[in-house]
Amino acid sequence: MAYAHYWMNGEAVDLPVGKAVCVGRNYAEHAQELGNEVPEAPLLFMKPASALRSLADGIVLPQGLGEVHHEIEITVLIGQTLKDADEETAKAAIAGYGVGLDLTLREVQNQLKAKGHPWERAKAFDGSGILSQWVEARGISTRQHIAIGLEVNGQLRQEGHSGQMLFPIAALLAEISQHFTLQPGDVVFTGTPPGVGPLQQGDKLALRLGNFFIATTEVLTGESPL
Ligand code: ZN
Repeated sequence: MAYAHYWMNGEAVDLPVGKAVCVGRNYAEHAQELGNEVPEAPLLFMKPASALRSLADGIVLPQGLGEVHHEIEITVLIGQTLKDADEETAKAAIAGYGVGLDLTLREVQNQLKAKGHPWERAKAFDGSGILSQWVEARGISTRQHIAIGLEVNGQLRQEGHSGQMLFPIAALLAEISQHFTLQPGDVVFTGTPPGVGPLQQGDKLALRLGNFFIATTEVLTGESPL
């Protein structure tokens, strides 16, 4: 099993490289901007471990497949196994909070949606799950709203906070654990606020997680090293 260094409060924590479970349409305004209905239950999909990439390594856009959209999201690092968990147990299993990008091949996704096909080609490609460092969950009250913001080339593109989520984080983890066991090292992407849009080579991004940190990265130019 492969292990990754996860930077948390400046210290490396080694956890297995796991899957990412992602939530679609968890902010009403984002569902509306893409013309989607607000879901009655969380819309879940996954990215494999091979899709995950550290923000510090930069972003590589797939070529020739149409627009790649940024979706900034609060990310949750799982520290303990969760299966059929209630919300209290789910909360206690959160190791850390971070910020990530659920990169999406939007035109491919629209074609897949039109055909009723699964979304993996649009959502689970190599380098589609961009992860920041983590802030240790201990000390962060889940009652406190966690804010996120994304600037691209100095322009604010997206912002939101956990209080705007249709399904709050503890409820999401509990629901996910009814269907997929969450294991230490797994990551949950909790949905994106409005303002998604395409990225271009050379774009410089700044991702903010509350008052904890601002992480910067850029879209790499040239041939994909993946
Ligand atoms: Zn997303």
